[in-house]
Amino acid sequence: MTELPDFHGPHIEHRHAAIERIDWCEPVPRFDRIRVLRHTCECKARIYEFCAAGGLAWVRRTDRVEQAPTSRESPPRPVGEVEKLWAKLLSGRAR
Ligand SMILES: [Zn+2]
Repeated sequence: MTELPDFHGPHIEHRHAAIERIDWCEPVPRFDRIRVLRHTCECKARIYEFCAAGGLAWVRRTDRVEQAPTSRESPPRPVGEVEKLWAKLLSGRAR
């Protein structure tokens, strides 16, 4: 693995194996306090955040296009399930 500068977070790997399709939905403001536990690298236009609140977790996908960033969220699930989904996402096995 090559060393990345400090400001880099994880990048999404691109693969063509069996890919799990995530059911991306319009964000619903369900919780008052959301913690972002992890996020992918800020250098990309599309970032993913691992969010948690009220014992549930989900992934938020944001496309940072000029003027109007758009977000979509995966369905809230128990944190352990979303940990697995996050790992799949990072390794290119879910999108
Ligand atoms: Zn980066």
